[in-house]
Amino acid sequence: MPEEKQTAKNLKIVPDSWEQMPRETEEPEVCPTCFGTGMEIVPGKGARPCHCRRQDAHSRNLESVKIPKRYAGCDFPFYEPQNETQRTAFNFAWKLAMEYPAVDRGLLLTGTVGVGKTHLAVSILKGLAEKGFSCLFCEFGSLLKEIQGSYNSNTNTSEYGVLAPVFNADVLVLDELGAAKPTDWVLDTMMHIINTRYNDKKLTVFTTNYPDERVNDREETLEDRIGVRLRSRLYEMCRTVVIEGKDFRRNFDKFSRIKKANS
Ligand code: ADP
Repeated sequence: MPEEKQTAKNLKIVPDSWEQMPRETEEPEVCPTCFGTGMEIVPGKGARPCHCRRQDAHSRNLESVKIPKRYAGCDFPFYEPQNETQRTAFNFAWKLAMEYPAVDRGLLLTGTVGVGKTHLAVSILKGLAEKGFSCLFCEFGSLLKEIQGSYNSNTNTSEYGVLAPVFNADVLVLDELGAAKPTDWVLDTMMHIINTRYNDKKLTVFTTNYPDERVNDREETLEDRIGVRLRSRLYEMCRTVVIEGKDFRRNFDKFSRIKKANS
């Protein structure tokens, strides 16, 4: 049984790290208050909709986070660290989700494809959206395209409707930083977005496939992709967390074969 800890802050029993996370059980979860009926009996008063049904409001809040369908199932309990760097990354992500808004820096999750950077970033967003914070997921390349699409050449401006949610979200995930070809316009736009959030002290979590250190002559670094100024700003805004490992997607085949063999 994992050890659990009571924090004075929210008086909830919360695990502190991946080792303490409750493991999934085979039993389907039934609401212990209404036993699935949707109605809760209040002694002496009657019946009212159960709190589990009020989670619809949470779902609506989740919709506004714009998490891509592909990542809809990503949550902390489904992250299975494959090595020490992944355990450390999980723990930083979990701590951020537990301690926000009492945190002063976001995260820059770096690592090769498929090590779970987006999975952890989405888990943070879902956790905080459920607590009622305004959260937004943006794939950086798509966001840049959207901004470009809304550009009005007469006024030299992009539609504020595209940028406002990005500026205003309490917590923003910018996925795939550095993936867009770094033209002057892309660099200026990235700097504008990131600086605005920095000045407003808003929390941003980034993911990137580009490393800080050049591994070989052919490989580009994050600094090559986003420029020195922006990389330097990110040092102030975020803790850099390097995640190592193989592409987790390669496991999918293995798992489905094991499932088939057992069925
Ligand atoms: P990255 O952003 O690093 O490229 P993703 O987060 O997109 O990787 O991961 C690819 C897929 O593999 C996703 O479906 C994700 O849920 C899954 N995945 C990656 N790492 C893990 C992990 N350690 N435990 C469980 N699922 C993982």
